[in-house]
Order: sequence, then C-alpha cells, then structure tokens
Amino acid sequence: MEGFALNVKYAVIRCAHLENDKLRMKKHTQQIKDSFDRRIDYLRISITDRCNLKCFYCRPDKKIKYYDKGEVLKDDEIVRIVRIAHKYGVRKVRLTGGEPLMRKNILRLISSLKETGIHELGLTTNGIKLSEHALDLKRAGLDRVNISLDTMDAEKYKQITNGGDISLVLKSIKASEKAGLTPVKINTVPISGLNDNEIESFASLTFKHNYHIRFIEFMPATCGNVWEKSKCVKSSEVLKIISKLGDLEQMKFRGKGPSRNYRLKGAAGVVGIISPISDHFCDHCNRLRLTAVGKIRPCLFSKEEVDLKTPMRRGASDADIESLFCHAIQIKPKGHDINKGLVDQIDTMSKIGG
Ligand code: SAM
Repeated sequence: MEGFALNVKYAVIRCAHLENDKLRMKKHTQQIKDSFDRRIDYLRISITDRCNLKCFYCRPDKKIKYYDKGEVLKDDEIVRIVRIAHKYGVRKVRLTGGEPLMRKNILRLISSLKETGIHELGLTTNGIKLSEHALDLKRAGLDRVNISLDTMDAEKYKQITNGGDISLVLKSIKASEKAGLTPVKINTVPISGLNDNEIESFASLTFKHNYHIRFIEFMPATCGNVWEKSKCVKSSEVLKIISKLGDLEQMKFRGKGPSRNYRLKGAAGVVGIISPISDHFCDHCNRLRLTAVGKIRPCLFSKEEVDLKTPMRRGASDADIESLFCHAIQIKPKGHDINKGLVDQIDTMSKIGG
C-alpha cells in the first residue's frame, strides 16, 4: 500500500502541474496532454484475454495460460475507469482482447460505457460470433467494428487461425453493414510468403464496397519466436502493389490515428496502411491501452504499466484513480525503439489488447 500511496502522491503533484499548464476545459471534460504535447483521447480496452481462435502468431494452442476470471476487470471497474478517462479527455474507446465477443453480458457493458458520454465506441473482433450479435450491439450503443481477416482463402484461414471457419467472418461483414456498424473496417496483417499474394484482392474489395481495408505491418508482438523482420511486408511495398490497381489518392496525411488513408480512383471504400515498423508514428500517438487485468499501458512497445485494479479493489477514491490515470499519461514515452536495431519481443497482443 505504501508504494501505491507514493505513486498517488507523485501523480497528484504531476496532475497539479498539469492543471496549471496543460489542462483544457471542454464542457465537463478536461483535455490533458502528455509530456510531449500529444493529446491523449483514445483508450483501447482488452475486456478479456480469452479467444475462440488460435492464430499462429498471436495465441497458438496451449502456449499461453488464461488469467483467472477474478483477475480480469469487472464491468463496473471498466466503466469507472472509462468515466475517469472521459473526464480527462478520452473521446474514443475501442473494446478488444482476446476476443471481446467472448465476454459475457457485453451488451450491458456497451450500454453502460456509452452512458459515460464518450463520443465513439468501437470493437475489434475476429468476426466469428459477430453476425449473430451485430444488430444488438448497434442497439446497445456500439458505433463501429474492425474485423480481422488475414486471408480470403478458406483453407489458409483455417491454417492461420487453427481451425477457424471463414464463412462466419464473411457473414459478419455483411451483418455489420446491415446493422449500420459502418464503415466496416477490415484489418489484415500481410506476412511475407503467407498472404502477401492477396494484397491486391483485399484492396480490390474497396472498388465495390465501402470497406476500409487496413494493412497493418506485422509486429514483434507474438507468442513464441514467430516474428522476423523479413516476414514483415512494409507499407511502402503494400502501396506499390496496390497502385497497380489504379491511381491512388492520399486522403489525409494522417487522421487522429496511425492509419494513412488512400482511395483508389473510382473506389467506394478506403485503403489504410499502418506502419509501426517502417515508419514511426509515435509523434501522432493519441492512445493508451487498458489491459484485461486493469493496468494502463501507455505504449504498446514499452513494458511500463500503471496498475489501477489493485488500488480500486483496495478502496481507492476516484481522486486517487484520477491521479494514477494522469500519471500513466505523463509517463507515456516519446516513442518506441523497435526499428532501431535490436528488437525486443513484447507480449502477445492477446494479452495486452491488440
Ligand atoms: N480477437 C480480436 C481480433 O481478432 O480482431 C481482437 C484481438 S486481436 C489481438 C487484434 C488485432 O491484432 C488483429 O487484427 C490481429 O491480426 C492483430 N495482431 C495480433 N498480433 C499482431 C502482430 N504481431 N502484428 C500485427 N498485428 C497483430
């Protein structure tokens, strides 16, 4: 408890400093910035570390033990943290995991989160269970979905996910459009020699559909030694391949997130590239992560975390938790070093919240 008290004291001092220098009042919320003048308005929350797929690079069979249920944040704890995050300027929340649709009572959680006043609530899912819930999720307050799909080949999908049924994912994409969880974003991780021959086919989907196809560089966030730099298809390479399909218009250098967006001439949808390996986007980073066990992780590639769950369960006041939250923002590093030579493999995304 002593360590916690010190931590809070330190964070209170930092917060007081912030109040003077950096707090911006907007309605009832205060927009705070981190030590590098970045506005932090996006929180990604892992609501479970459990998953119904075993993608070979993320959560292969038996390699990772699940957290005990009691260790994972409860609904009211998540809502409390989001209420505090909103007070300090977080406008956008994304639920992820693990597979977020594996969490019981997710509809109730979504409505409670929406009641906190956050502007946008998204969900990243593998799409296996989404088609059955798309409409209810929308009615509960979910704004949009990102669906992960690394291949359009049924056999390859089975191989990558260790037995997954692609037809369920394709059904979910349609169901999400119908439910208005739009624009539907499709996340694809091109891996050299595995699915890089499908980049054109994925991008071609945007001619007919208003999908946002997002190509994410393969990161050293895997279970086991699966990652090698040579397996990561650089975004520049992806763009070269896509530009064979037609003129590419860059839509905006960068929105609030890390994606650089393009539209193929005449296309209905958008192609986005996310380049954590080949192009540092840390200067624009606006996000924090909350792990399934209640730790704020200011940077995906730094192991530094701030525990909110332990103090909450020991009776910490909202003011204490607010101070810790502000502290987490202040220790957000300037950038990661994964592309400066030595690569430090971090935990699998399913533990941190991908
Ligand atoms: N189960 C959900 C899903 O499949 O979308 C949410 C969790 S999953 C960890 C979130 C995203 O992280 C997926 O799109 C997955 O492809 C991506 N991901 C996992 N490991 C990755 C890695 N090493 N590099 C890049 N993306 C990764």
